[in-house]
Amino acid sequence: MEKAWVNTIQAQIHELHPYLPGKPIEAVAKEIGVAPSEIVKLASNENPLGCSPKVREAILAELSDINRYPDNDALDFKSKLSAHLGVSESQIILGNGSCEVLDMIGRVFLGPGKAALYSQHAFAVYPILTQTLGAIHQVVPAQSYGHDLSESLKRINDQTAVIFVTNPNNPTGTWITKTELLAFLQQVPAHVIVVLDEAYIEYVNNEDMPNGVELLNEFPNLIVTRTFSKAFGLAGLRVGYGVASPEMVAWLNRVRPPFNVDAIALKSASVALEDAEYLEAVISQNESGKTFFESSFKRLGIHYIPSRGNFITIECRRKGGEIAQSLEKRGVITRPLANYEMPYHLRISIGLDAENEKCVGAIEALVKEGMWD
Ligand SMILES: *Cc1c(COP(=O)(O)O)cnc(C)c1O
Repeated sequence: MEKAWVNTIQAQIHELHPYLPGKPIEAVAKEIGVAPSEIVKLASNENPLGCSPKVREAILAELSDINRYPDNDALDFKSKLSAHLGVSESQIILGNGSCEVLDMIGRVFLGPGKAALYSQHAFAVYPILTQTLGAIHQVVPAQSYGHDLSESLKRINDQTAVIFVTNPNNPTGTWITKTELLAFLQQVPAHVIVVLDEAYIEYVNNEDMPNGVELLNEFPNLIVTRTFSKAFGLAGLRVGYGVASPEMVAWLNRVRPPFNVDAIALKSASVALEDAEYLEAVISQNESGKTFFESSFKRLGIHYIPSRGNFITIECRRKGGEIAQSLEKRGVITRPLANYEMPYHLRISIGLDAENEKCVGAIEALVKEGMWD
């Protein structure tokens, strides 16, 4: 029986589906009856190396002050981050993960009658946010799985308030070059906000890749979002940030919940930022893991989408959900992409060597058993 208060729920929430995360290790361990340590999770683009050892020490030291609220302005962390990025502290907005920064952007700029433009196969948080706020969805069909920027320009209309561009994109790994991004930004009307989501940018060192932060002076309607959840290995602590003009940051700050990033997270991110050696190890592990997957997929005749992220997406001949289930029975968790309009694809996060080998071994077993075709 429906409860009376259900009628109070806003209309757009009825059409909302919750975010689907990767399957937890504990759940799969229970399902197949093995210890959690036997399970390999390559489903959430997490950092397989764990966090920097320096972060562990910082967390323990921070514990003695846990009865106090964190610094609401995060002065210490922002001074380190601004120096690292070469921007002023007033250009940084912090979030409980970069998802919270996206949320603040939505609450400032989106609502009924306003539209968010994003690509097909884009990060699931954009449609969820747009729907939550009762805004209009402008979904641009993907081209070769990536964001079609010229088609996006054609679709901008009076309602378009925010454009989400992800570089590189999750879950496809596709990317936009410096030349392409510049040409796009020059043609976007000055009143339309462009959110450049660079969650995976630390993994990329190709010459042709744009660095959004360097473009901020030229484009006052641009905001770049980044995170400590991926390359910095702090997904469990929830730290992300946005970089934009001081004016834009001031507007976002109005809707930022008080004390939104906790003290341990702030301290950890400060320390993580300064451990260049750790970041180097992360990038080299990711590169070698990706090369291993690519050569394995070539050997097995499995098509993959070239990726600049810490994951690689493959094409399956059966439903990705079905393949993911078969892999889970072999102790490997991957991410099916039906909710990204890619029902025949599977996203695999790059893990440690042994994890990657276990994953390829499990896929190879499926191929041999005739369960792939
Ligand atoms: C993982 C990811 C994020 C980061 O989310 P956090 O809230 O910072 O953990 C943002 N955007 C994209 C495209 C991602 O894949």
